[in-house]
Amino acid sequence: MKKARPHVNQNEGLIFEHSSPGKRAWQLPPLDVPEVDPAAALGGDHIRESIGGFPEVSEVEVVRHFTRLSTWNYGVDTGLYPLGSCTMKYNPKVNEVVARLEGIAGVHPYQPDALAQGCLKILRLLSGCLLEITGMEAITLQPAAGAHGELTGILLVRAYLESRGNPRRKILIPDSAHGTNPATAAIAGYQVENIRSNALGTVDLDVLRRAVTEEVAALMITNPNTLGIFEENIGAIAEILHARGAQLYMDGANMNALVGMVRPGDAGVDVMHLNLHKTFSTPHGGGGPGAGPVGVKKHLEPFLPVPVLEKGAGGRLRLIHHRPQAIGRVRAFTGNFGVLVRALAYILACGGNGLKAATQDAVLNANYIRKGLEDVYDLPYKQPSLHECVFSDRLQAGHGVRTGDIAKRLIDYGFHPYTVSFPLIVHGALMIEPTESESKEELDLFIEAMREIAREAEQEPQTVLAAPHTTRVGRLDEVTAARRPILRWQEPIAE
Ligand SMILES: *Cc1c(COP(=O)(O)O)cnc(C)c1O
Repeated sequence: MKKARPHVNQNEGLIFEHSSPGKRAWQLPPLDVPEVDPAAALGGDHIRESIGGFPEVSEVEVVRHFTRLSTWNYGVDTGLYPLGSCTMKYNPKVNEVVARLEGIAGVHPYQPDALAQGCLKILRLLSGCLLEITGMEAITLQPAAGAHGELTGILLVRAYLESRGNPRRKILIPDSAHGTNPATAAIAGYQVENIRSNALGTVDLDVLRRAVTEEVAALMITNPNTLGIFEENIGAIAEILHARGAQLYMDGANMNALVGMVRPGDAGVDVMHLNLHKTFSTPHGGGGPGAGPVGVKKHLEPFLPVPVLEKGAGGRLRLIHHRPQAIGRVRAFTGNFGVLVRALAYILACGGNGLKAATQDAVLNANYIRKGLEDVYDLPYKQPSLHECVFSDRLQAGHGVRTGDIAKRLIDYGFHPYTVSFPLIVHGALMIEPTESESKEELDLFIEAMREIAREAEQEPQTVLAAPHTTRVGRLDEVTAARRPILRWQEPIAE
């Protein structure tokens, strides 16, 4: 027998626990046509006799079950989501409306070019906007996400260097890089060499000069880097690389700090990717759809993945599938089309001034938080920061409280945790990116919560160490969950 319990949403059990034999979620009148034998229709032995323990529930039970579960989810529509590096900004709902317009949502990827002129025009318009924003000279919209864009970009570098006789062996990566950068280099067949940052948290030009040999294919740099600091020597970095025939790859996932202010193409970047699902407004998380367009300079253009969009006779747009030097396809179709549509809607709705204002607000908000917390949390790098700030847990660690504990306690105050323990060059990192979406009132609440947790860490560390106190489950055994996941419900064995 089930018992009445407070807070039905939070105490919702498994759907299997709602099951009673014979319950159905549908009701149909008696059959007035001949019955088809499913085994005969579907080919005999593929039919399962029964599914052990399959839940038997009514329609309203199904609806309530999943509606209750949906309230466990925390998203940017529920509150501030201050993950650093990921740019969890609010995504205007009008972009969703546009992406769902019938002619857009229902288009078939194999529709002939002649019947898809509107969609091709969307791709062309978006390409133009992104080229203007980045200062690059050609672009592919194909890659499905940031890491995929990186791989595409490095394959372009490899193809270009190969066409000049030698693909080279190494990719240089600063120690402040995002983890996808070394993974990309390795998958593209390169050795990774780390570049140590200087005391300011940026690339050390002398270290770089010594590292760039004829073996080096490219440097992959994130700008602003994962400390939220702008690599102000980016122009000099490009010169050092180019003098040795190497390329400059920029990880543009943090473009939320640059749009409308700085164009990487003008700073000497040869190839870069954007994360449309971060900077240009698509709801993301949990591996949902993204898009990682790659912008290049002219010399890399012949290698872009096919198909490439071109304007033909009479202004008709068409996709060109055969180009002799192309690296091939990196995706079956053109990116995730719905994400591209959202990005264009966002860019056009903001306009140039709006995009610039978003950048400025993102930087202002991050610095407001930095100022509000720098007397209670340790700030290892003091350089001015852009769209995110990175503290360490050094002051709290003395009381046994680490960054992960502070993050768990933040949940009790109604906020999603910030990014924990990343970037790796800051021991015990708290990486905070509020984005431009948040009001001053919300930022003040966040600062107040973080200050209160700093006080608790000092005066009553146990409160922080045992957090969260207000959630359905407390601390999960994350190691066992990762090593021995139980992914399937099994019928309890009858006694
Ligand atoms: C998010 C991110 C990536 C990877 O992007 P995905 O779309 O998750 O593959 C790469 N670099 C940086 C700096 C990022 O923040």
